[in-house]
Amino acid sequence: MAITIKNDSEIARMREAGHVVAMCHARVEPAIVPGVIVTELDALVRDTIAGLGATSNFYGHQGFRGYICASVNDQIVHGIPGKRRLRDGDIISVDIGAIVDGFHGDSAWTYAVGDVADEVRQLLIDTEAALYEGVAAARAGNRLGAIGHAVEAYAEPRGYGIVRGYGGHGIGRQMWEEPHIPNVGDPRHGLRLRRGMTLAIEPMLNLGGEDTRIMPDKWTVVTADGSWSAHFEHTVVVTDAEPLILTERLAAMVK
Ligand code: MG
Ligand code: MG
Repeated sequence: MAITIKNDSEIARMREAGHVVAMCHARVEPAIVPGVIVTELDALVRDTIAGLGATSNFYGHQGFRGYICASVNDQIVHGIPGKRRLRDGDIISVDIGAIVDGFHGDSAWTYAVGDVADEVRQLLIDTEAALYEGVAAARAGNRLGAIGHAVEAYAEPRGYGIVRGYGGHGIGRQMWEEPHIPNVGDPRHGLRLRRGMTLAIEPMLNLGGEDTRIMPDKWTVVTADGSWSAHFEHTVVVTDAEPLILTERLAAMVK
């Protein structure tokens, strides 16, 4: 599929989808406490999406049974919500998608459950920072490689394993559109970014090595060495100035 440029009316609808996803994160974060069962978080997001008149783009996708992807500790992405009870010191990546009026929003955040180890807390801080480095590079005139380069330049010197087999993507009328957006790259390579491109940027960083494997459930991606992993994602639109983040949580969103 070709890379699509969105017009203002399409971007307005993507802003609505992004708002729904941000509202879901605002609702789910305070529910992430020791003892909560992952399916309870999934139900909360299901109800929030429905309450805002949107639909989920995860549920039913290739048979996926969840409104969120819930990836705990050494799970990187695509975890299926199950009956696991979260414990103090865990981390959980909650990836949420919503469709409004035919347009998609997509954002993931990794949350600490209670008190986490210092190196784990730093992993969360640094992966979020790597996301914003990548977002800042999504400017009209830059090449696509600038995004992955910005993530890599932040993460690599800090010693994290940068997940290479998965990454960001174009987004719009489909959840996954061209181009694929790796989390490593060369700023001199790749297509030239243009105003109106809408992108999901999503670094995944591991405390250990970069290698991954897929669990027998055929969905859950985990680190090969069992080290813990964090994942942060925003949907953004490229403009002639700063990129606009469509899935940003606003202070006014009710906790
Ligand atoms: Mg996502
Ligand atoms: Mg995504």
